[in-house]
Amino acid sequence: MSGLWPRRPRLVAGNWKMHGTPQENAALAGQIAALVQPGPRAELAICPPFTGLHGVVERLRGTGIHVGAQNMHPEPKGAFTGEVAGTMLVALGCRFAIVGHSERRHLMGETDAQVAAKLRAALRDGLTPIVCVGETLDAREGGRTAEVLVTQTRAAFEGLDVSDARRCVVAYEPVWAIGTGKVATPAQAREAHAIIRETLNRVVGSGAGADLAILYGGSVKADNAAELFAEEEIDGALVGGASLEAASFWRIAAAAQVPR
Ligand code: PEP
Repeated sequence: MSGLWPRRPRLVAGNWKMHGTPQENAALAGQIAALVQPGPRAELAICPPFTGLHGVVERLRGTGIHVGAQNMHPEPKGAFTGEVAGTMLVALGCRFAIVGHSERRHLMGETDAQVAAKLRAALRDGLTPIVCVGETLDAREGGRTAEVLVTQTRAAFEGLDVSDARRCVVAYEPVWAIGTGKVATPAQAREAHAIIRETLNRVVGSGAGADLAILYGGSVKADNAAELFAEEEIDGALVGGASLEAASFWRIAAAAQVPR
């Protein structure tokens, strides 16, 4: 993804959440690098905990596999105890930052306004934000999936230029599918991705939705990845649990290399 930003770049990103010591993270990155060759059709990224970033960057140097953070603070510096700025992540060698993951929205009370601020800060600092949106089970069962996706997408992107919006990646992550083993069907993901694209076209400007990559996230595993990637609307995956094992991440990454 260097140089000219391609239209709808394909990306498989592993979110390691709060797992592993720095040594364990570096060792897993080494195992992944030994197995996985980034292919011509999909970029790969690993998002370890903050404490593992340095070792993972070192281990993946020269492999073509990118590194991302799981969160960032929108301010470039200041009295924000316990927080990490985007500029610090760039200096460490990060290319991506996940913003608005549902665990941060629901467990840490992160608001739509904070997600929007982080998205803008990531772009300002030279990071590619992976912006997560997704409905809860209650919202889906109550017929409010579209309403949630429109609200979260609008709040994150409203006011951005088309050129900035198309430098972002969106991850559609239904909350009911994250870490549960219940995966959305390709048809459910297709419908959700189409809502997100339409919202981007309406809120940001025509073309924004068409150009930006939308990943699916939520219980992506080695044995369901190919079916998901066969869906034209799905540009890749944000992978939690299955990225913690080199062989399963490798199989998911390999499934993304198929021609579209
Ligand atoms: C995630 O953490 O973003 C995620 C999708 O997790 P899992 O793959 O474990 O459902």
